[in-house]
Amino acid sequence: MLLPDAEVHFQMAESGDTATGLVMKRRKQRLHAHCPICGEDDEHLLHVLICPDKTAVDFRKPLLTELETWLIDEDTHPDITEYLMTGLTSWFEDPFGTEPAIQSTVSSIRQAASLQSQEIGWYAFLCGFIVEPLVTCQQAHYSSIQSRRRGERWAIRLIHRCWKILHLIWMHRNSALHESEGHQNITFEHSRGLDTLHRVYAPYFRIPLADLLTRQISYQKQWFLLIRTARETVDLTLTVAVIGNPSFRKFESG
Ligand SMILES: [Zn+2]
Repeated sequence: MLLPDAEVHFQMAESGDTATGLVMKRRKQRLHAHCPICGEDDEHLLHVLICPDKTAVDFRKPLLTELETWLIDEDTHPDITEYLMTGLTSWFEDPFGTEPAIQSTVSSIRQAASLQSQEIGWYAFLCGFIVEPLVTCQQAHYSSIQSRRRGERWAIRLIHRCWKILHLIWMHRNSALHESEGHQNITFEHSRGLDTLHRVYAPYFRIPLADLLTRQISYQKQWFLLIRTARETVDLTLTVAVIGNPSFRKFESG
């Protein structure tokens, strides 16, 4: 396994990569856990990636085409490109379906495919777990074409591409969430009132709800993001305060 720098992962964490419908409902940030794109009941993390709605499918297609172009540009062994594209396309179409048969006769690719399908799976691949035989095969390919590129660097860049795909799918889902639930979210936040927020936010709650909902969409989005971020900051501060408190530690150690 390779561990590249975690920059993109941090970006994903910052954008709340686990705050799916189920999580947001649990945290009382949403009233229900429906997928904002297709409306499925319980939106879990995997669903965000494989949402079957046409909008989601249409959004993912060019991301895969882009990945293929990138693989070709990087002088990837053609059998690796074929294997990855077939596998990923089939997984996105039906993650619980059967794994497509391996066409390649290259032994390290067959070995990689068997490890990949039995132990890791495509979801983990997208998260950055690339099995070693694939890297070895790519290194051998670079050597055979007298390229000075390194298989390991190739794998690290491939992981970054995968993270980018995950991140873009996540952002796409978020914009759908804001569009589909804008009014509902604002109504919910407005009705919660100031609660534990600093009084500096009080003026935002003095705007009558009906008035707020007829303002420009850009203003509504700003209002929601501001309040939502403020609430999350309070939640985070509370968590840190509780965990950092010596009495909590005493309680923890029994
Ligand atoms: Zn969906």
